[in-house]
Amino acid sequence: MNSMEREERIGRSLGELRQTFRSGRTRSVGWRKSQLRALLKMMDENEDQIFKALHQDLGKHPVEAYRDEIGVVKKSASYSLSCVEKWMAPAKGRIPLLFFPASGEVLPEPLGLALIFVSWNFPISLALDPLIGAISAGNTVVLKPSELAPECSAFLAKTIPLYLDSEAIKVVEGGTDIAEQLLQQKWDKIFFTGSPRVGKIVMSAAAKHLTPVTLELGGKCPIILDSLSNPSDIKVAAKRIVGGKWGPCSGQACIAIDYVLVEHKFASTLIELLKKTINKFYGENPKALKNLSKIVNNHQFDRLRNIIEDPAVAASIVHGGSLDEKSLIIEPTILLNPPLESAIMTEEIFGPLLPIITLTNIEESIEFINSRPKPLALYAFTKNEAFKKKILTETSSGSLTFNDCMVQYLCDALPFGGVGQSGFGRYHGKYSFDTFSHEKAVLRRSFFLELEPRHFVVRNYNSLSIL
Ligand code: NAD
Repeated sequence: MNSMEREERIGRSLGELRQTFRSGRTRSVGWRKSQLRALLKMMDENEDQIFKALHQDLGKHPVEAYRDEIGVVKKSASYSLSCVEKWMAPAKGRIPLLFFPASGEVLPEPLGLALIFVSWNFPISLALDPLIGAISAGNTVVLKPSELAPECSAFLAKTIPLYLDSEAIKVVEGGTDIAEQLLQQKWDKIFFTGSPRVGKIVMSAAAKHLTPVTLELGGKCPIILDSLSNPSDIKVAAKRIVGGKWGPCSGQACIAIDYVLVEHKFASTLIELLKKTINKFYGENPKALKNLSKIVNNHQFDRLRNIIEDPAVAASIVHGGSLDEKSLIIEPTILLNPPLESAIMTEEIFGPLLPIITLTNIEESIEFINSRPKPLALYAFTKNEAFKKKILTETSSGSLTFNDCMVQYLCDALPFGGVGQSGFGRYHGKYSFDTFSHEKAVLRRSFFLELEPRHFVVRNYNSLSIL
């Protein structure tokens, strides 16, 4: 298909979606619930296919695939199904007595036709989680999966029309050329998950039509690790760091730990414990690592290889460092104090490399973080309440999690999103519904009781201004 034919096809699809939206069908609670139920059915009936696609694209183990993709989607869809009617209800607005008699309400209405762009690292959940928000809010949708996870993209394109209303929800597969064509269209909402670089392209395309955007971007997510004194606390911290760094997609996650800040005196204890925990979780033999996702493709593999083959960075490796080009697996790798001006400390790592940066005093971590772009997620392991308060009030990040990592993503009651360079807008739970809704202000007055206050106000205002 050439570019003009594609353009025509996109135009036809968008025409159909707009017509469906105008028909009002997607606004009913019945339609929204039926789509959420259908999505749950799709997840139940296609588990094996999803496992297979995730394994082919990213080498994800089924346990990881269930936890981070299928389970996440099922949780979100079930939660939205149980809450959507409540979310749709207008909220009462308090109207000043001056307007008596009157009543006011805030009515959530769907925005219209939404475009969802997906990144490749969680190609199922990052496609379907925002889709759940768009459906719950009553929108029609074009979903563009990532071309870098082709099996998952094909699965979504083939399976979604078998379960969901295909006059209201369409999947458009393709790479940059298709993405650019889609961005030339007029949308009522664009929800983008991806890199800050492409986020800027999306935002400038959206500006042409004043389309609201949500940008779920990435960046470097640090851990502040206080010198814990209780050996069992240290063990728990090490388990959570190892599970959080290498567990979800081998560190190819937007909220993966990017680097650890720790006092000099605590570094060797931490490194020894991290090594032990890595061996326990993933095995000791780098050639036969268990349960680790692969690097998505050769391009990303080479990018990571270049990062650690920089001689100054290579010299800082204290654990791991082996790479297998055939299987695209990189061993969990720990680095101690790589140069701060090298790529590993200036770019988002997005892979299984973990730099540890040592400080004289852990309180210096606040200045370290504040001198860099605002992170999507900040993690802090400490029992010191005064230090917790300092971190909370003196740093800015999309989220802040004390004494754990990654799990904040699963809390539907908390918004998920970035700040500054890590993006803006938020979703999950009710926040997803809000992201795809407009809160319409409705004021109802009657014809009763006209005391000519408007004349009074105008007269008084004029006399005041003369004075
Ligand atoms: P990416 O920006 O390269 O691609 C994201 C989407 O944009 C894809 O669908 C792709 O087809 C499309 N795209 C690519 N080039 C485009 C162009 N020139 N014009 C229009 N669209 C284009 O990102 P990625 O490599 O898929 O994902 C990695 C990045 O995403 C990392 O920075 C990571 O931190 C971030 N991320 C963020 C979240 C989050 O929830 N905040 C989740 C996952 C990944």
